Amino acid sequence: MNIVIKCDCGNKIEMDVCPKKYLQLRDNLERGNFCFDGAEIKDNKLKEFRIRCCKCNNWITLGVG
Ligand SMILES: [Zn+2]
Repeated sequence: MNIVIKCDCGNKIEMDVCPKKYLQLRDNLERGNFCFDGAEIKDNKLKEFRIRCCKCNNWITLGVG
């Protein structure tokens, strides 16, 4: 699978992940001038996390539960 994150400022990262393999998201984000910017955990479950663009400081929150 290929995961692409593209910011409005043009900053972009593409992450190739082999089928059934593991991706270390944080390391890959940082390589592409993005960063993992914190998460909200409730009842020991990840509820949402934030990805920030280090070039323009825009961010998005992704919900997962
Ligand atoms: Zn940006």
